[in-house]
Amino acid sequence: MSAAVKANKAIFADGENCKPAWSEAMACFSGSGNTHLEIMGKPVMERWETDFMHKLADIASSKGGRVLEIGFGLAIAATRIESYSIAEHVIIECNEGVFKNLQDWAKNQPNKITPLKGLWEDVAPTLEDGTFDGILYDTYPLSENTWHTHQFQFIKQHAYRLLKPGGILTYCNLTSWGELLKTKYTDDQKMFEETQVPHLLEAGFKKDNISTELVPMQPPPECRYYSHKFMIAPSVIKD
Ligand code: SAH
Repeated sequence: MSAAVKANKAIFADGENCKPAWSEAMACFSGSGNTHLEIMGKPVMERWETDFMHKLADIASSKGGRVLEIGFGLAIAATRIESYSIAEHVIIECNEGVFKNLQDWAKNQPNKITPLKGLWEDVAPTLEDGTFDGILYDTYPLSENTWHTHQFQFIKQHAYRLLKPGGILTYCNLTSWGELLKTKYTDDQKMFEETQVPHLLEAGFKKDNISTELVPMQPPPECRYYSHKFMIAPSVIKD
């Protein structure tokens, strides 16, 4: 299939739901040094996102202390978080193959790592209120129904309550934002303002504590989920 045809293919078919099979599905790593991760045929993570992942990791680590990361993928953000001196790095990951990599990776990191296996939907409820200084949420939509909204479920149910006062949340949903910036918005800030901010406010965060940075990116033409030249990195602080 040509790159152009692949790039135009929709990420989800109508009503598609990968959630029941995702955790046990084979994690397919490819490219030299693992540049790509696919699960159930979805382009879950690609290494050209590195600068952006580093930005999110920098934001999530900026308060030090205990950092919660959701979605391990290719360990790009996780490895950057480990370049900082933090008290503990808790990581939630549901996919079997990705979790095995996480366990191997954890053996050689400088800070205390706590890998937690499972969907955040099952694991996050076991974590205590007000115990994290930073949170980085970067999972993947597991169904067509939650393509544009899965991050809000986590943010409303857990991110706000898990943060300490003064703690910071950063997150993304590039599969959604890439589609919105291709079909509905030309302006990143407007996209964020209209589609993300109302949900952050509903979760309990205050408008004055939400800020964004634009990270310049060069997505390769064959990328199926992103063609925009910037990515938006949010910083959301709990009062
Ligand atoms: N930030 C990572 C990339 C994450 S890719 C990096 O820098 O490399 C997204 C990851 O989230 C995948 O490993 C996927 O298996 C995991 N994931 C998707 N849905 C999840 C869920 N509901 N709970 C936990 N992990 C999930």
